[in-house]
Amino acid sequence: MIDKNDFVMNHGFQCPDCKTLISYNDELFINFFKSNLVNCVYCQKQLNIWKIFKDFVNHSVFGEHYTLLGCRYRFKEININPLEKFTLDLTEEVGDGYLLFINYNSYFGGVFPAEFIKIIPPSSILPKRIELYGCIPDKDKPVTETRVRIFYCYAPSQVIDDLSMRLILDAFQKYYENNYRHMVISASTAVEIAQHNFFSKILKTDRVSDDKIKTFLKDNATFSSQLKVLLPTLADKMKFPMLNEQIKNDLINLRKDRDYLVHKGELKKDWDVDKIKNELISSLFAIKYYKLVLDGV
Ligand SMILES: [Zn+2]
Repeated sequence: MIDKNDFVMNHGFQCPDCKTLISYNDELFINFFKSNLVNCVYCQKQLNIWKIFKDFVNHSVFGEHYTLLGCRYRFKEININPLEKFTLDLTEEVGDGYLLFINYNSYFGGVFPAEFIKIIPPSSILPKRIELYGCIPDKDKPVTETRVRIFYCYAPSQVIDDLSMRLILDAFQKYYENNYRHMVISASTAVEIAQHNFFSKILKTDRVSDDKIKTFLKDNATFSSQLKVLLPTLADKMKFPMLNEQIKNDLINLRKDRDYLVHKGELKKDWDVDKIKNELISSLFAIKYYKLVLDGV
């Protein structure tokens, strides 16, 4: 049963044409990888979800962009009394994942929920148990028990436990902090892990040992030759969809940016935010692609 005061919010985006909410799910990605375009299930308009996702990243207000990565966005209501403490315990909901974002609001006046911060921990991870206090904004205006709305977003354990997803989440966080150097390192490592895992599994055969495949991928097939030669060859022979040219080029650019960065400590002089953002979105798509093709797309 859904508690109307405590529920997971729908994850999706609005169709630019008919404005209906389209849920994020693997089906969207599968259709995109097969044909580069996805039809809106309501008005049938063809949508470029890569571009929609890219636009979405700049326009989210409450941390919704994390839902692209499988993070959950949740709504809850609580009552807080004036001058009283309230312990908000999200341990059960968040589980072994972690909280990315939280917002409290008493929309219609009343007490203002203030957060107690006793010790500032040496960590950017938000606590799952939060002590709130019902402040009276204006001592001359009496207030009573107040309904407070809470929005929060958390990364579930499935995202945290998967290293490539954990790193691409880190890359998105760094993008929002304008820390583009860190973003490039995290996104590039996330793709490298997903790509290595993909080729290790897809090349697996009884005739060649796992160690030989590992050595081949490490010493004989560079990152870009895996993308430019190995992947299209296997896609043709094994009849799975190929990554589109734009995503492939973004991954190769990301790799070049990463190599320059680790050698020089800085991004190339001609870098710009839009190019880096393309690389971030394409990294997410590539990780989804490698996972979905292994699942049998
Ligand atoms: Zn539509």
